[in-house]
Amino acid sequence: MKVSELLKKDQVTISCEMFPPKKGSQLEDYKETAAKMAQLKPAYLSCTYGAAGGTSDYTVEIADAINQNGVPAIAHLTCASSTKEKVRSVIEELKARRIENILALRGDIPEHVDFPLPNQYHHAIELIADIKEAGDFCIGGACYPEGHPEAASREEDLQHLKEKVDAGCDYLTTQMFFDNNIYYNFMYRVLRKNIRVPVVAGIMPVTNAGQIGRIVSLSGNLVPAKFLTIVDRFADDPKAMKQAGIAYATEQIIDLIANGVNHIHIYSMNRPDIAGKIMDNLSDIYIRE
Ligand code: FAD
Repeated sequence: MKVSELLKKDQVTISCEMFPPKKGSQLEDYKETAAKMAQLKPAYLSCTYGAAGGTSDYTVEIADAINQNGVPAIAHLTCASSTKEKVRSVIEELKARRIENILALRGDIPEHVDFPLPNQYHHAIELIADIKEAGDFCIGGACYPEGHPEAASREEDLQHLKEKVDAGCDYLTTQMFFDNNIYYNFMYRVLRKNIRVPVVAGIMPVTNAGQIGRIVSLSGNLVPAKFLTIVDRFADDPKAMKQAGIAYATEQIIDLIANGVNHIHIYSMNRPDIAGKIMDNLSDIYIRE
């Protein structure tokens, strides 16, 4: 099923995310994780591609496993570390496996290499155009409420976002944010720019103190004092930190839904236990059929 169809409905959707294994020998375990995540009945489940030093080799296999568990799958696809030929072969593989949803991304520019080479994509917008040409996919794109770290200004970033959507994005998913006002402010600017596709709010449950430093250095996220206080208080108590992180993410989601934001994506990584607790906290707010 195309995710764009789900996002058109006037109802709350909660989706989750996982990453693929690094080695083929781990594939069966990760398919098991996909099955556990699917049992939570998210509206859809996405699988990353080469994120944060991870692999891209098994994204298609995991997306296929997600579909086989009866949940619509989104396969992420990045292009900065590959040739156009390689990317096009992955698109064909997705088509052959009937995976209808692609989150089209540039990916981070690899360090210490010339970029882009003539047979590489420069930006996600070019990848989107090729995916559109290759088949009838639902195409998503990434957006950054706090601005993409490379962008000279938020206005310039928003202009590129508008062009990306006009090139054929059916929906957007935001980078994680820890203060909902950042999302509300971003949406004001998105609507003023006449960007009219659904903008799914990305929420990251931070359940161990080590994550927070990595998140800030990777994405430049602002971390509110309220959240830092939680980390200060519970960093040395893993169980308490996990519980507090789940509560914080739940509170963010409830505030978003209360303010009319229907579509939430949990950066659940491969933690059905954490995603499950959040879903349980929302059991009368997000009705799972
Ligand atoms: P683009 O849309 O190409 O934008 C990148 C930068 O270029 C921005 O600063 C933008 O303003 C600028 N720009 C865009 N178009 C133009 C143009 N035409 N001319 C000049 N400048 C332009 N990474 C992974 O490796 N794997 C994943 O699975 C993954 N999943 C993600 C999921 C989400 C929801 C998000 C928000 C990010 C994800 N990332 C992932 C990280 C992402 O790959 C990086 O943030 C990357 O640096 C930018 O990718 P993009 O698709 O947003 O790039």
